[in-house]
Amino acid sequence: MRNTNLDLLLYDTLTRRKRSVGTVSFGGGSDIINYYSCGPTVYHYAHLGNMRAYLFNDILVRVLRVIDYKVNYVMNITDVGHLTDDGDDGEDKLEVGANRENRTVLEVSEMYTEAFKEDIDILNIASPDIMCKATDNIAEQLSMIKTLEKKGYTYVISSGVYFDTSKIEDYTALSGVKLEEQMDGKRVSVLDKKTASDFCLWRFNEGITSNRSMSWSSPWGNGVPGWHIECSAMGHKYCKEGISIHTGGEDHIAVHHTNERAQNIGCYGGDWGVKMWVHNAHMMMGEKKMSKSSGDIIRPSDLDELGIHPLSFRLLTLQSHYRKQMKFSIELLKVADKLYKKLRHKISTELEFYPSKLKLDLDHEDIYKERFLEPILSDLNTAKGLSFLIELSKNLDRYSKKTASIIVSRIEEIFQLDLFKIIDDNDLNLSSIPIDVLKLIDSRKVAKENGDYKEADVIRNRLSLLGYKITDTSSGQKVQKITI
Ligand SMILES: [Zn+2]
Repeated sequence: MRNTNLDLLLYDTLTRRKRSVGTVSFGGGSDIINYYSCGPTVYHYAHLGNMRAYLFNDILVRVLRVIDYKVNYVMNITDVGHLTDDGDDGEDKLEVGANRENRTVLEVSEMYTEAFKEDIDILNIASPDIMCKATDNIAEQLSMIKTLEKKGYTYVISSGVYFDTSKIEDYTALSGVKLEEQMDGKRVSVLDKKTASDFCLWRFNEGITSNRSMSWSSPWGNGVPGWHIECSAMGHKYCKEGISIHTGGEDHIAVHHTNERAQNIGCYGGDWGVKMWVHNAHMMMGEKKMSKSSGDIIRPSDLDELGIHPLSFRLLTLQSHYRKQMKFSIELLKVADKLYKKLRHKISTELEFYPSKLKLDLDHEDIYKERFLEPILSDLNTAKGLSFLIELSKNLDRYSKKTASIIVSRIEEIFQLDLFKIIDDNDLNLSSIPIDVLKLIDSRKVAKENGDYKEADVIRNRLSLLGYKITDTSSGQKVQKITI
């Protein structure tokens, strides 16, 4: 049972209104939120534009936990099936990555999964409770396709098994766009498809000209799963009761999530599904998104080299609402960096961290609720919450040190800007590190050089148990003593 009656309102893409997450929770005390977010396709580095979505996830999960929900946080790792054009055209992105780098698909997926974990760590984005790979769940995907076939939602053509979207009455309900408009101007990419919106569930190897190294056997022929089926299959596996909240970027609405929803309806009827769909808008550089194809990408680990603290990017994202396009430029980031460093210097030198459960007097409890928590609980208005934090930091003389410290400590539960840590003071030089820790750091470096990212991950965890946080920067591994 939750110990608060506070609740979070979020904008649900399907019903086009704000809904309380209490209406989509599970468990005896209605205190469990099954939260599923579409994760990265691990064929390349994730960049700051991608990170906006993961920062949004992170804030959402932290808010849910602050108001005492038990969150089961699931994220998929796409390592097969996602084609270069998001539809049924092009090549598998993982095969493209492998050819580009002259590595196997497994090496590519392990390398970029590891890089993704490091990048989210740099931005203080908590790891999901479950990170599940598409290739680890082929049987689940096949079983779902079999059920869809049994129920009459599929047909087979020379290129693969397809989902017949005409069988779903409100197929485009998520985008709210009529099918004819959605498909207007789009060519039918696979010639034998019945309708342009039909999508691939299982793609045959037969007849393809390019080299494909991934292949599984299936009742219909050897091949690989389509992109959308992994999220339906893994969502069902890891969120047994149903998915309370499913998130992703707004580009997923019309295709990926529309198709995921169609698969769920076809397979489970009304018995299992997604209760609430929430989407974040993109980050824009002028008129364009930051994109891998333009070659113009910045990773969180690149920021150090630009003289920008990575958490300044976290602060920059807090300044815009998740459903509005976020403006990005290096100049804007530098302004955020200045603000961040000033804010952190002030808080870390003048206040001290207190455990969040510590009580405030009634007046200050009200101020914290009205100025910070309420805007956050109303569809995640982080910008309003942040301006309260900045205002507070400028007027510390109006509060006792303890009161200001408790308020900022509570804000930090959600914002995670490391405001209580003296800036860069924890960066250690190697001479102050115990010899056995140094040895581990060295062996991690060797493991990484040998492409053994699993081992590097194991060593990183061991270091963290010893109280050291290790991050990869362009100038090598950076070691910090973990302070609580
Ligand atoms: Zn997905």
